[in-house]
Amino acid sequence: MTTRIDTKVLVLGGGPGGYVAAIRAGQLGLDTVLVDRDGLGGTCLNRGCIPSKALIEAATRFASVSELARGTISGVRLACAPELDLAATMQWKDGIVERLRGGVASLLHRSRVRVVAGWGRFSDAKTCHVTTADGEVAIVAEHVVLATGSVPAELPMLPFGGPVVSSTEALALRELPRRLVVVGAGTIGLELWHRLSQARRRGRHRRAAAQAAAPLRRQAQRTRPALALNGTA
Ligand SMILES: Cc1cc2nc3c(=O)[nH]c(=O)nc-3n(C[C@H](O)[C@H](O)[C@H](O)COP(=O)(O)OP(=O)(O)OC[C@H]3O[C@@H](n4cnc5c(N)ncnc54)[C@H](O)[C@@H]3O)c2cc1C
Repeated sequence: MTTRIDTKVLVLGGGPGGYVAAIRAGQLGLDTVLVDRDGLGGTCLNRGCIPSKALIEAATRFASVSELARGTISGVRLACAPELDLAATMQWKDGIVERLRGGVASLLHRSRVRVVAGWGRFSDAKTCHVTTADGEVAIVAEHVVLATGSVPAELPMLPFGGPVVSSTEALALRELPRRLVVVGAGTIGLELWHRLSQARRRGRHRRAAAQAAAPLRRQAQRTRPALALNGTA
């Protein structure tokens, strides 16, 4: 059976574009429904800005403690070299994402925005059918905001699969790759390269990645990065 919801505003997509629009509409007193298929916060919160910054923070701390272990900073020396527990780091990062997702949910709740979790598709300009865990919901809206974001772009000569992963998988690695090439030296590519190379020993691996990335800079302006992983630590 299909449940029907009539609303003033429908926002499709719960990323920073969508949830901010929905919160504002709710604050202005408009009856608002937000639809998202996989967790509030969109790319930025779940597989973009936030997880990448958390992992960069962990990698930076690791690199700086490694420097101490080598006795290269002000003569301060650690008794032994630090170890990176990648599973624990990923758990810490997931905890941050979970907490912030709860924050977005509570902002939406306080703004009286109804959230429907599921995949939405339009049958006409004002009617969106959402497939939810509890069945089909038909949302009929006077105004629609589309904020469906973007997805990783696959390169024809480097299809995703096996050792070629997108930024999404790179933010949830279970093991550190022994060698990697980051294709795409835009902001996201450089961030991933910086984080992964800091988590590895410094030196050889960093230079290899930089040289590989440089000729691809023009391509990077049009795509999200792909990573080619070669072996694990
Ligand atoms: C690794 C990485 C790092 C980044 N770092 C930064 C940074 O430091 N600073 C910065 O400003 N930006 C950063 N970005 C970019 C940032 O994530 C995006 O600019 C931002 O998320 C775009 O927001 P949005 O709301 O337009 O789309 P998104 O965040 O992509 O949200 C769209 C949402 O819509 C949902 N959706 C799509 N279609 C449907 C449908 N039919 N039904 C239901 N739901 C649907 C998606 O599942 C998604 O949750 C980064 C991106 C990546 C990948």
